[in-house]
Amino acid sequence: MIKTAIITGGGSGFGREAALKLAEKRTKLSIVDLSKENGEETVRLCKEHGVEAIFVQADVSKVEDVQRYVAETIAEFGRVDLFFNNAGISGSGVRTLDCSIEEFHSIVDVNLNGAFYGLKFVVNEMLKTGGGVIVNTASLGGVVGMPTLGAYSATKHAIIGLTKTIAGEYGRDNIRINAIAPGTNETPMVKAFPQEAIGAMAEEVPMGRLGQPHEVGDVVAFLLGEESSYIHGAVISIDGGAAAL
Ligand code: NAD
Repeated sequence: MIKTAIITGGGSGFGREAALKLAEKRTKLSIVDLSKENGEETVRLCKEHGVEAIFVQADVSKVEDVQRYVAETIAEFGRVDLFFNNAGISGSGVRTLDCSIEEFHSIVDVNLNGAFYGLKFVVNEMLKTGGGVIVNTASLGGVVGMPTLGAYSATKHAIIGLTKTIAGEYGRDNIRINAIAPGTNETPMVKAFPQEAIGAMAEEVPMGRLGQPHEVGDVVAFLLGEESSYIHGAVISIDGGAAAL
């Protein structure tokens, strides 16, 4: 059976890389993003692989938008089998207690609340069709502290808590769920940092370099595929060894 996947944050970075990998595996795709331009470009690239794909413009931090991206996916494809719950934002890089209340709330709204809403409404659909597979995007900052990105790190730790708990609750319903914990990758989010900051980050990684987004996309496709059928409730680091230190 041809599977259907929803990817949030599918317009860029890990989301686009995972979409392209899944398109190679003949998956139907629902690409969700705030950015219409980037989301539609991902859809165009996926269609080059001969698969069906739609774009849904949505803000994952708004419950009604999340319900709408799920509804539009069901209206188009009739089901959702795979979910890459990935959209996220980082933060302005100040000491944690200097983070404004507004910024703290906005990071929680997107990274944690948005991921929770997605799980709530997508799993509900998966249960109707016999199950599904989910990958939540946590971060290296979800397994270790991340100075100057406290709100971000807190939400990513929370993603791991949600992942492990839902794994315990829904495994017998044939919902398989894991989290990825990528280290610093050269996505647009990171490329926007000053060059010297990027060099310094690479120095701290045991492999001496930052990751490339396709190295995350490959793991996501693996975790959403049959090849990982007994991996459940796990946190998979993709970080060149950074979490080992
Ligand atoms: P990115 O900025 O390249 O892509 C993120 C996408 O999410 C963008 O297309 C953006 O428009 C979209 N987005 C942001 N807020 C949204 C919202 N409210 N609703 C819908 N879409 C929204 O970033 P990326 O590096 O690919 O990040 C993807 C995920 O990976 C995020 O959760 C991020 O925290 C996480 N992460 C990134 C790194 C890294 O090094 N880049 C490392 C670890 C974890």
